[in-house]
Amino acid sequence: MVRYGLDEHDWQALEDEVLGLFTALLRIDTTNGNETEAARVVQAYLAENGIASELDGELPDRQSLVARLDGARPGPTLTMMGHLDVVPADAGEWSVPPFAGVVKDGFVWGVGATDMKNQVAAEAVALARLKRSGASFAGTLKYAATADEEDGEFCGVQWLCEHRPEALRADYLLNEGMGGLWLPVDGRKVFLLAVGEKAFAQFRIRTRGRGGHGSVPEKERSAVIDLARAVIALGLADPPAIVSGTTARFVDVLVPDAALAARLKDPARARAAGAELRRLDPVVAGLIEPLFGATLTPTVLDAGKAVNVIPTRAEACIDCRILPEMTHTDVEAYVATLLDPLDVQWEFEWVDVTTPNASPAETPFSESIARVLERDVPDAVLAPMTSGSFTDSRWVREAFPDCIAYGFAPFLAESFHAMDGGRDHEPDERIMIEDVTYQALFFERLVRDLLA
Ligand SMILES: [Zn+2]
Repeated sequence: MVRYGLDEHDWQALEDEVLGLFTALLRIDTTNGNETEAARVVQAYLAENGIASELDGELPDRQSLVARLDGARPGPTLTMMGHLDVVPADAGEWSVPPFAGVVKDGFVWGVGATDMKNQVAAEAVALARLKRSGASFAGTLKYAATADEEDGEFCGVQWLCEHRPEALRADYLLNEGMGGLWLPVDGRKVFLLAVGEKAFAQFRIRTRGRGGHGSVPEKERSAVIDLARAVIALGLADPPAIVSGTTARFVDVLVPDAALAARLKDPARARAAGAELRRLDPVVAGLIEPLFGATLTPTVLDAGKAVNVIPTRAEACIDCRILPEMTHTDVEAYVATLLDPLDVQWEFEWVDVTTPNASPAETPFSESIARVLERDVPDAVLAPMTSGSFTDSRWVREAFPDCIAYGFAPFLAESFHAMDGGRDHEPDERIMIEDVTYQALFFERLVRDLLA
């Protein structure tokens, strides 16, 4: 049987190689740290394949690995990147031990199985295969397996951009994101390609009132009541819709009903159309609606210490995310339009702010990704989109403004629906053996195509 152009023997050899490195990485607990141990595993693998690499970083146990492979002639530079750290896991919620690299039922299980030791391993295998076959591509391929993506001590990619920029500087960056997941639309497979990221504009609202004994309420001067009104106004608000060019094209690819697509692309009707779409297809709506603008989600409330004491202040944290088309000033102005009419005294304070960022969607890089994918999946369509979560791509875009950075690692066997929207940061995080194996093959073919 031929799989994705490889005969049974070659596919099995590839699978063995990928799983060997991948499961070794999954067996190292890199919960927000300890990346150096994992980086050394990658280093040993690359060394076996004749590729020199360096460990670098601010902290001894939180090093990143960087390597490069020069092609046969001049050309552009591609950096393939991935982070080695993972988020904490509660073993009690898992059906297998989370750091055992278990292979069973056609899957590889473990924290980091999709986020993103799969891509770290698959990219390293692609690098090794290119080296073994003589590195006949043009330009330069860089590789980085990095520390500290999930929980910021900023000693990973941000540190490298600042202190070792040459390790990452490139024309193209391949990283994580939501890219590579696919949905069936009209008999075709629509693959997400993350070309941009929303950013944090998280803030705190504080209200103040008169304190006193709980038996003597003053409704007009209550910090808690004022805060509750503010939280309701913020939490239920639908910020004005923005429909960027990327979002309009995304809608066209994902929504086959032309009339509904037209309403979704009209800022004046987008919110109502989004609600309509949610009834028809909640999965697709969940991808499209956050692209219409800022989201405001009340998360943390804080007021009062004792039931019988009226607190003098109350606070709420709002997890707000903004699009690349927006600024933080827009958020402050919008909050004022919601809260000023309430006639409550409120204070505003930023909690965490990052910069939204994006790369152009139509580039030689996206064309190359589409070309390579279509060879193996003839009915594939690429759908560039802005991801709701952020990744280390933001540091690279900031440090090298001309670098085109995308999040993409293709999942072929399992769809977005089968994965229930993805498994990052969830118990029983797992990936099909076929998918992680194909990812290595895809990355190798992408280098050969992009750096032709
Ligand atoms: Zn990640």
